[in-house]
Amino acid sequence: MAKILIVAETLGGELHPTTGKAVACAAQIGGEIDIAVFTEAKGAAADAAAKLDGVSKVLQVSNAENGAIRAATLAPQVGALAEGYTHILAANTTTGKDIMPRVAALLGVPQVTDIMAVHGEREFDRPIYAGNAVNRVKAPGDFTLVGTVRTASFGNVAESNSAAVEDASVSADLPAHTRLVGQETGGGDRPDLQTAAKVVSGGRGVGSAENFSVIFSLADKIGAGCGASRAAVDSGFVPNDMQVGQTGKIIAPDLYVAVGISGAIQHLAGIKDAGTIVAINTDENAPIFEVADLGLVGDLFKVCPELEAAL
Ligand SMILES: Cc1cc2nc3c(=O)[nH]c(=O)nc-3n(C[C@H](O)[C@H](O)[C@H](O)COP(=O)(O)OP(=O)(O)OC[C@H]3O[C@@H](n4cnc5c(N)ncnc54)[C@H](O)[C@@H]3O)c2cc1C
Repeated sequence: MAKILIVAETLGGELHPTTGKAVACAAQIGGEIDIAVFTEAKGAAADAAAKLDGVSKVLQVSNAENGAIRAATLAPQVGALAEGYTHILAANTTTGKDIMPRVAALLGVPQVTDIMAVHGEREFDRPIYAGNAVNRVKAPGDFTLVGTVRTASFGNVAESNSAAVEDASVSADLPAHTRLVGQETGGGDRPDLQTAAKVVSGGRGVGSAENFSVIFSLADKIGAGCGASRAAVDSGFVPNDMQVGQTGKIIAPDLYVAVGISGAIQHLAGIKDAGTIVAINTDENAPIFEVADLGLVGDLFKVCPELEAAL
């Protein structure tokens, strides 16, 4: 039977919702599921992890080193907990992508990155060629399987559990060569792009950083997160943590509104699992309309304020 350890993602001492997506993937693999929560102080994150359905127990590793999440210090702690687990999984977020290759390297095992679907205990779909093809991979059964889980491909799990929370201490040499200089969260109070149920994104058609206020305003009206195309990011309109697509964030909101975005294949790779796609574009032949459920042909500077006023 599989025994799976999920590495929880935390932000400011709170559990990040992407952890639940990793649990959903683990539930499809089957077996026993534990979550390791690394924080400076005991509390909220471990309690939230214990509520996730399917979790057997939460291992709470609290020490001063975990005040700031750094892959260099976290990976050895995960490695120290690895004994006895058949799988170690984390969400395929920026944090997960930073930590898990180090865990795999420390354990001397390969990694299955960006798991999109589960076909068996050690058999998964994952994207290759930048998402243009899906590869079904099978890992031999004699090593701990380290993997990251594509959050857009798995739903949320219910939160009706009350798993045991155990204090765990790890004995691992933590490197001192990396230190956190600062941490800033972009996007203000808007929902996190990676987990938002609604996202409004702007593209090159928005024209400038100042004009992006049209996108922010529409997003705020409907309580959405904000994204952007790579062209908008490369043009300096918005920071690159807002980029959606093949080389940006892969997201699966219920509603995705693409404003002044042409619909290049690399952008569409990031919204493959979105629910309803709405496109606003002056060019009726823009490829985005081929994937859009609802299309508005028109000038975004006219359409967006009108839409906002009507909502
Ligand atoms: C290896 C690689 C990786 C890449 N990764 C990504 C990625 O992760 N994400 C990504 O987005 N791109 C990515 N790209 C870039 C991608 O190929 C496109 O260049 C990019 O997505 C185009 O962005 P855009 O749609 O905003 O710009 P454009 O293609 O220039 O489209 C702008 C659109 O705005 C419309 N428009 C203009 N004015 C208005 C107006 N007033 N009102 C309404 N509509 C208007 C135009 O009709 C046009 O359709 C990648 C490319 C490569 C080669």
